[in-house]
Amino acid sequence: MLMSQPSARSLSPVFDADQRYPVDLHMHSTASDGALTPTELVTLCAERGLTHMSLTDHDTMDGIEEAARAAERVGICLIPGCELSTRWQGVSIHVVALMPGGLQGAMVEGLLQQREARIQRAEVIAERLEKVGLPNALEKARFHAGSDRPLGRPDFARALVEEGLVPDWASAFKRYLGSGKKGDVKAHWPEISEAVGWIVDSGGVAVIAHPLRHGLTRRKRGLLMDTFQAAGGQAVELVSGQQNPDSTRDLARQLVERNLYASMGSDFHFPGSHAAPGSMSLVPRTAAPPIWQHPRLVHLRDAPAGPLASV
Ligand code: AMP
Ligand code: MN
Ligand code: MN
Ligand code: MN
Repeated sequence: MLMSQPSARSLSPVFDADQRYPVDLHMHSTASDGALTPTELVTLCAERGLTHMSLTDHDTMDGIEEAARAAERVGICLIPGCELSTRWQGVSIHVVALMPGGLQGAMVEGLLQQREARIQRAEVIAERLEKVGLPNALEKARFHAGSDRPLGRPDFARALVEEGLVPDWASAFKRYLGSGKKGDVKAHWPEISEAVGWIVDSGGVAVIAHPLRHGLTRRKRGLLMDTFQAAGGQAVELVSGQQNPDSTRDLARQLVERNLYASMGSDFHFPGSHAAPGSMSLVPRTAAPPIWQHPRLVHLRDAPAGPLASV
């Protein structure tokens, strides 16, 4: 009798109204611009009661091996992943790649290309910031990165704050690094369709990251989804961190109209920020299927039998 019942840790096949799920499929570690090592992140996720997680560092899967070892230890289901930087109609768009088979196929070459793009982009950002009063920008950003990983805009933000050009991190983005500012260099990223191709050809599922944070109108967001879908993309983050419930319901309608799967994640970067692993707005009742119903994500349907399974 007990055996035939679904496990208490298996996930619901449809979204019920205003439910919280023990799932977070968008988080960062020290392999990109996060503060926790992959091991620390996985441990924190388990402590917070998550059963399913993905590590999605910017343009790299370098943290996955360590995360997978930690996940095995604490008995949490880890979906390998990353967050690709791409371009669409002059806007920088992030695409989460959920890669149940790990790093393989076209993604191997794709991530090498992203790494190179990030290195070259950092040089352009540094040149531009030197012109506005940050000498030796590259060296300073490198110092703040604290490792030899390719640099990101947050590393330059820290340098700008440290050198007193701006009072805080938010101002660094507002004045120098945010969308449309001097340090917002996008030319190096691939077209969204190309990046989606890498993911799909490598056995993965492509997910539009934080669709409400790309600064698009509803109509443009729909056009983005159409292009994405035509390239083989099948999912969108219905919930990313904290969102307005009306916007979420409206977004859900755009997913349902296109038969897109719904994913969710906190976009967690560091403790003490507004986000924490598994902390995000509630999922509304919607006909959009949960991403763990996607045929390629069988791992997501049931939690692994690990130390926590018996708790
Ligand atoms: P990059 O991947 O190098 O383009 O840097 C993008 C990252 O910078 C994002 O993933 C965030 O972590 C951070 N970021 C972007 N915009 C802002 C902002 N307006 N305020 C704070 N952090 C931001
Ligand atoms: Mn980031
Ligand atoms: Mn992002
Ligand atoms: Mn992210």
